[in-house]
Amino acid sequence: MSKTMSLNELTLSDARDKLRAKEITAIELTEACLSAIEAANDALKAYLVVTGDKALEQAKKSDERLAANAKDARALEGIPLGIKDLFCTDGVRTTAGSHILGNFEPPYESTVTQNLWDAGAVMLGKLNMDEFAMGSSTETSYYGQTVNPWRAKGSDENLVPGGSSGGSSSAVAAGLCLGATASDTGGSIRQPAAFTGTVGIKPTYGRCSRYGMVAFASSLDQAGPITRSIKDAALMLQAMASYDLKDSTSVDRPLPDLEKALTQKFKGLKIGVPKEYRVDGMSKEIEALWEKGIDIYRQAGAEIVDISLPHTKAALPAYYIVAPAEASSNLARYDGVRYGLRANGRDIVDMYEETRSHGFGAEVKRRILIGTYVLSAGYYDAYYLKAQKVRSLIKRDFDDAFETVDVVLTPTTPTPAFGLGSKKDADPVEMYLNDIFTVTVNMAGLPGLSVPGGLSAEGLPLGLQIIGKPFDEATVLRAGQVIEDAVGRMPIPEPWWAGDAAKPADNAKKKAEAADNAPEKKAKKKK
Ligand code: GLN
Repeated sequence: MSKTMSLNELTLSDARDKLRAKEITAIELTEACLSAIEAANDALKAYLVVTGDKALEQAKKSDERLAANAKDARALEGIPLGIKDLFCTDGVRTTAGSHILGNFEPPYESTVTQNLWDAGAVMLGKLNMDEFAMGSSTETSYYGQTVNPWRAKGSDENLVPGGSSGGSSSAVAAGLCLGATASDTGGSIRQPAAFTGTVGIKPTYGRCSRYGMVAFASSLDQAGPITRSIKDAALMLQAMASYDLKDSTSVDRPLPDLEKALTQKFKGLKIGVPKEYRVDGMSKEIEALWEKGIDIYRQAGAEIVDISLPHTKAALPAYYIVAPAEASSNLARYDGVRYGLRANGRDIVDMYEETRSHGFGAEVKRRILIGTYVLSAGYYDAYYLKAQKVRSLIKRDFDDAFETVDVVLTPTTPTPAFGLGSKKDADPVEMYLNDIFTVTVNMAGLPGLSVPGGLSAEGLPLGLQIIGKPFDEATVLRAGQVIEDAVGRMPIPEPWWAGDAAKPADNAKKKAEAADNAPEKKAKKKK
C-alpha cells in the first residue's frame, strides 16, 4: 500500500498480534475504525447504526484485560467488528433491512454475536443488507443502497457490493471494520465477498447457531464471516461457531483449530473440477480465472480430477422454490402485533393486510407469493415436493464426488460486480442468476468459501469458490490459503469515498450523527 497504513487497515490477525505485543491498544484500533466509518459512510452507506459508545466501552475493557495479562487474552480481544443487521443485538436496533421491523430493539443477543463478545470482540455497529437477506446486490434494503468501494478502472460509476451481505462486504473491503458477520442462504456471504475482493466462508449447515438470526429459509440459512484474509476468516469462524441447545439444527461436532489447519500439508490433495459449472454464456474472464485456480493447485502439488455433478442445472430453480416456501412461512410472524411496524386498519384482518403491504418491499412480497403458491394444496407435489427431491439428488452428487476428491473448485459468480441500479428494470431471474454457482452448496448443506482469485480486465475483483465435505472447513480454508498465497490479498482500494474526510471536525461530527439516525430519517422520507 502506497499511503501510510492506518490501524483500521490491519488484518484481524495482525491486529491481534499487535494488541498482544502491546504495540497498539484496542482503543486506538477502535477509534481508527470509527473515524474511517465517519469519513466513508455517507458515500458507502455500509452501516445502518454505529454504536461508537458501546465500542469504546468494550475496547477499554479489552485494554484493561490485555494490560493485566496479554498472554491469556481471549481469541478476539479488542478486535472491532461490524455486524450484519440480521443478527439480534441486545438493545441495539435490528431491522434485517426491512421497514416491517421498524425500530425493533431485540431484548436478547444472537448466539453468534454473543460468542464474539465472549471472545473479546468489539461491536462497531450494524451493517446494511438486502431486505430479509433476499437479493444479490443490497438494493432491496428499505434503508438505501450500499456502495462497493471498488470501481472499474477509469470509471466513477458506483457498483453494487453484492448481496445480501453487502454492508458487510463493503465495510470489510473499505477498512471500516476488521471483519464482519454475514449470512448465506444461497450465496449471500460468498457472492458479496467475490464482488469486493474479500474472503467469505459459509460453514456447514449446523456449525453456527441460528438462534437470534432473523430467519429467511431456515433449512438453508448459515452464518459466517467476511474478512480480508483467509487466516482472519479462520479466526472469526472459530469464535462464531458453537453447539447450541437453543437451535435444534445446531450440530455437536468439535471444530478443529482452524488457524493451525492453515499450515498443514497440502500436497497430494485432490481438487475436483465439475464440468457442469461451465455454463452457457460464461464470460471468457471467468473461464480464465477458473483455469488460473486450477493451475495454482497443480503447481502446489494437488491432483486435479474432472468430476460430474449432474443435477447442477436443477439447483437454481429448486432453490427458488424451497427458499421462498420457507420464507413465506417464516415471514408470517410479521403481522403488526408482535414486532415493529403496525399500520391502522378497520379491523384486525385489515390491520394485518395494511401492515404487511406497507412493511414488506417488492422482492419480499414476490417471494411470499411464490412460496405460498408452491405450498398450496394442489401444487405442493408438483413444486415443493419435487424441489425437495432435486435437493436430495444434488446432495447425492456431492456425496459421490467426495468419494474421490477432497474439495471442489468453481468460480464464485458468473460476472464481476455490476452497476448500481443496472438491473432495476430487468427480469428478477437475471438477478437470481448471480447465485448459479453458490446455491448448490446451501442445498447440500456443505461448507463453501470465496477467495479472491484476481482482477477482471476492468480491474474488479473476481472470486474462486472452494466447496468441501460436511464439517471439513479446515481443508476448505487450507485450500483457500493456497490461492491467497499465490494471488496475494486484495488491497483496500484508493479511498475515493473519503473526499469529504478532510473537512472541519464539526462537519464530520454532523455526519456521524446523521449516520446514527439514518434509518429512521429515510424511513419517514420514503413513505
Ligand atoms: N441471492 C439469493 C437470494 O436472493 C441468496 C440470498 C442469501 O444467501 N441470503 O435468495
